[in-house]
Amino acid sequence: MTDKVKGLLVVEKFFERTPADPVLVGSKCKLCGKVWFPRKKVCPVCFRNDTMNVHPLATRGEIVTYSISHMSHIGIPTPYAFGYVYLPDNDITIYTLFKDWYPPERKLFIGQQVELCYDVIREDPWGNPIVSYLYRCLYTKEDFGHCRSETTKR
Ligand SMILES: [Zn+2]
Repeated sequence: MTDKVKGLLVVEKFFERTPADPVLVGSKCKLCGKVWFPRKKVCPVCFRNDTMNVHPLATRGEIVTYSISHMSHIGIPTPYAFGYVYLPDNDITIYTLFKDWYPPERKLFIGQQVELCYDVIREDPWGNPIVSYLYRCLYTKEDFGHCRSETTKR
């Protein structure tokens, strides 16, 4: 569980607001069961506009691919890490920023287990904090031997 993070949401439609943290949501088709992110009004599989429900995205996943940027991106401190995470409970892969990945002890690798969190990623031009979802890297003692060229099951 995370502490409540205060600020403006980076993209309002990515979330449902709750008294605690916002919840990252997609949409799920009640006919085919496919989950989509961002939300869709029409299921691309069933071609129906009356089958989609708001659906919370999984809090755990694993890194499919990643990159580290050393170029500034509108107020986000560098270096920052981004990439794609597979969410097995939703059977989808989504784009994300990563948190808690900093070397030298902590290195990103494909297959790394990650956990959903929310945090301030930058400020708007008026100094208001902008909150986004991120996936925090989870490490075990065995993970510290990995290097970025290794591949895993995905
Ligand atoms: Zn469908």
